[in-house]
Amino acid sequence: MANLNERICIIGGGPAGISAAMYLQKKGYKNFEIYEKLNKVGGKSYSPKIKVNGEERTYETGAIMGALTYWAVSEVEEFGGATHLDGPNMRRMYRDSSGKEIHPFEPKIDFSFKKLFGLLKLKKQMKKLVKIMNTKYKGYDCYGHRGVAQGKFDGLSKEVPNHLQRITGENPNLKDLALPFSEFCKLNKVEEVMRIWIGPYTSFGYGYFDEIPAAYVMKYLDTTTAIEFVNMRLWTWKEGTQSIYVKANEKLLHPAHLNTEVVKVERPEGKKIKVTIKDEKGTRVEEFDKLIITTPLDRFLNYSDARDDEKELFSKIVHEEYVDYIAKFDKDKGPTISGYIFDNMTPETRGHAMVYYHRWEDLKGNCPSVVYALRNHEGMESIPYEDTIRMMGEDMAKCGFPVKERLYEQETYYCPHVSCKDYADGWYDKLEAIQGKGNTYYAGEILSFGDMEDTCASSKDIVERFF
Ligand SMILES: Cc1cc2nc3c(=O)[nH]c(=O)nc-3n(C[C@H](O)[C@H](O)[C@H](O)COP(=O)(O)OP(=O)(O)OC[C@H]3O[C@@H](n4cnc5c(N)ncnc54)[C@H](O)[C@@H]3O)c2cc1C
Repeated sequence: MANLNERICIIGGGPAGISAAMYLQKKGYKNFEIYEKLNKVGGKSYSPKIKVNGEERTYETGAIMGALTYWAVSEVEEFGGATHLDGPNMRRMYRDSSGKEIHPFEPKIDFSFKKLFGLLKLKKQMKKLVKIMNTKYKGYDCYGHRGVAQGKFDGLSKEVPNHLQRITGENPNLKDLALPFSEFCKLNKVEEVMRIWIGPYTSFGYGYFDEIPAAYVMKYLDTTTAIEFVNMRLWTWKEGTQSIYVKANEKLLHPAHLNTEVVKVERPEGKKIKVTIKDEKGTRVEEFDKLIITTPLDRFLNYSDARDDEKELFSKIVHEEYVDYIAKFDKDKGPTISGYIFDNMTPETRGHAMVYYHRWEDLKGNCPSVVYALRNHEGMESIPYEDTIRMMGEDMAKCGFPVKERLYEQETYYCPHVSCKDYADGWYDKLEAIQGKGNTYYAGEILSFGDMEDTCASSKDIVERFF
């Protein structure tokens, strides 16, 4: 029988932390606290306001978009009263590495038979992938990775219309999902589809297909979500993705404590969990019955009494080094639509601008745009941060948009994941085996994937199963 009065500590006020609190509250829990080290909730869903032509509007430095498969995000929206129905559209164009406009998906522009046959092949393979994911890989489209390395599935379904229903079963073919996505495509003779998947995958900083287990790619970009991306039926938020979590936080019985960092966690056997927090008043210790960690688990090792099993597992987590900044341009000299530069989405061209996001159509060439680059690849040297910033600026200039000023820039701890080898070795089943040990529960991006939907759905899964 659940004790609805037990005291629960949630580390982190990003989408995972706010949604974990929401799901606890919905279940009747009254005694939870969220600690957030920054002066805002939303984590990497951060939407600062910038004044252009005398009018203040939101821009996105982190999460931008969702799709109809964002079931858990919908629940957070509904709880807080946010809506995605008013967001700007996601129009886009394509350029090559020299900055020239190209039309890779329009057979009639720059027509050649080679291009036409290439597109027909792509269409055929897209169809094939949709079919095999729903047959050969049945069960792939649930959140999380429990059992996949053993050829099983167990999680909340993403499927239309049975979303968020728990599904479990066996399917030995699922083991293929531990392969790098490029090998997975080769195995299934659908290599052309990478031309589509790379847009919403690599350009969004989630890594390169020769290193990332197919499981992450296909769970994030399940075939329904990918098709929504192709058809530009995407969700955006006028008030920014951050507003989803700001509004939900306001409806919580205990809104997040801001500017409050968890600096130490001690879990003495058989006693309450001691959490040391640091805020403007200094440091103090709070006692809890249970702990939900929604922040990076490899970093949890630095400030906790981590056990050997935690050290062993969490030290295997790797993340991407994703850089973005908001670029301002001279009057009328900025882009008027978002642009994708596929040539720059290869390991060899890491550090170059892969995409720029133009948010407000009516501001035309006066809209500050966000530019993105990935500077790391497994086994290769990372491009230094300053070089990356410089190269991004050069790429924008080649496209005809010299950057006048950088209004905001950041590098985020992005897309935590494990290698193909660790995935195949059952990393996720080992994580599952320690859920709840020491009254500690692990949530956040690593559980399923580094996007808003997967993090919120993982919080739902943890609260449903363990609380
Ligand atoms: C450039 C970019 C583009 C993106 N685009 C999309 C997109 O279009 N769609 C999409 O769905 N997702 C997108 N994402 C990903 C999405 O923003 C993240 O996956 C999501 O925010 C993860 O939520 P989280 O709560 O797990 O982690 P985070 O958002 O990282 O939140 C963790 C929070 O914990 C806090 N914290 C850390 N350590 C401590 C501590 N010791 N004590 C207290 N607080 C702590 C942090 O300050 C942070 O607020 C994008 C992200 C970026 C950066």
